[in-house]
Amino acid sequence: MISVEEAKDLVLQNTNPILETISIQVSKSLGYCIAQDIFAPLNLPPFNQSNVDGYAVKFNSTNTWKVIQESKAGDATNFELNVGDACRIFTGAMVPKGADAVIMQENCVREKDLITCVNNFSSKLGEHIRLEGEEIKKGDLAILKNTNINPSVISFLASMGLQNISVYKQPSVVIIVTGNELQQAGEALQIGKVYDSNSHTLTAALQFLGINDVQIYFANDDKNSLKSVVEKALFNTDVLLLSGGISVGDYDFVEEVLQELKVEKIFYKVAQKPGKPLFFGKNKKSLVFALPGNPASTLTCFYEYVFPAIKKMQGKSNLFLQKQTLPITQSINKTNSLANFLKAKVFNSKVEPLTGQQSFMMKSFAQANAFIYLPAQVTSVQIGDEVEVHLLPEN
Ligand code: AMP
Ligand code: MG
Repeated sequence: MISVEEAKDLVLQNTNPILETISIQVSKSLGYCIAQDIFAPLNLPPFNQSNVDGYAVKFNSTNTWKVIQESKAGDATNFELNVGDACRIFTGAMVPKGADAVIMQENCVREKDLITCVNNFSSKLGEHIRLEGEEIKKGDLAILKNTNINPSVISFLASMGLQNISVYKQPSVVIIVTGNELQQAGEALQIGKVYDSNSHTLTAALQFLGINDVQIYFANDDKNSLKSVVEKALFNTDVLLLSGGISVGDYDFVEEVLQELKVEKIFYKVAQKPGKPLFFGKNKKSLVFALPGNPASTLTCFYEYVFPAIKKMQGKSNLFLQKQTLPITQSINKTNSLANFLKAKVFNSKVEPLTGQQSFMMKSFAQANAFIYLPAQVTSVQIGDEVEVHLLPEN
């Protein structure tokens, strides 16, 4: 049995970024990773824009102007202000040539076509004008290669008028869910059965990483049928996730099947709770994670091991869950010599372990926004002690 730290190192050592790139529509690129430096194809803003609703003016000594024109958002404004002229203008509209500043309408009084500043208000040169190219100039570096695409990156790309970009291909993922006891929601629950949650958990957790194209297969606890499902998947996928059947029970066939199919075992069993029977291996094409079937074990192992591996394949950085060190709100006596991942809630710069830590329970996980990580050698923590916290991805 190896330590959590060794297991994580082995996962990363055996995971390579996918270098193949594809062109994708910006609007469909959420969760991908950019495969090229992006240079601005235009100035942003593309012209001098008003930053407020008000009046564009050419400065004079009287602080009174005659409103000669109007410029609203979208107009191809093409006139020039002379001394004494003002232009009614709105946010985002083109500032006319010759304008020195835009005065907010709240700082003006208007009488017919004359405006004056209120209460000795005086405007500064360039005030409330967004200058052409102020955000970025045509040809300048806009976004670095290997940037993870989130909604703000999509917004910036779209504001530059980009339709398609080059991204790294997403890894393909197959999930095989094992267990004779599993039924799907919508079916009346039969005696002795439980509803399958892990296929949904893993699908959702993959969606967080931008992976939507996932194949799911179900297998009974029967060695031959499991073997044929796994064999097919191994030729077809970059990542194979198995749920359940990796423990030591008489009907846990996953390890045996992986061995027979010549999947190279990198490690099996990690000194951790939950998720001790975690298996990680690979064959020519696929990384294989066999995740213990208890729902909290499955998701904990996903976040701590599968998540960083997939991020590495995607070309992303900051592979692991974000870490913090925070004071704990309760003391804990640890009764095992394993590393523990405790479902926890971070609030007010503290972290609270939740009740219901057993690995078959998801109620506490559903309330959690973090794990408390207690290394194997820790035997107890006291209220107020600083502990390592791993923040869960939140939406
Ligand atoms: P296993 O790892 O196959 O020994 O399963 C351990 C526990 O997790 C058992 O109580 C299973 O019923 C449960 N379990 C396994 N797979 C799933 C699943 N897909 N959804 C919900 N519970 C599961
Ligand atoms: Mg099972």
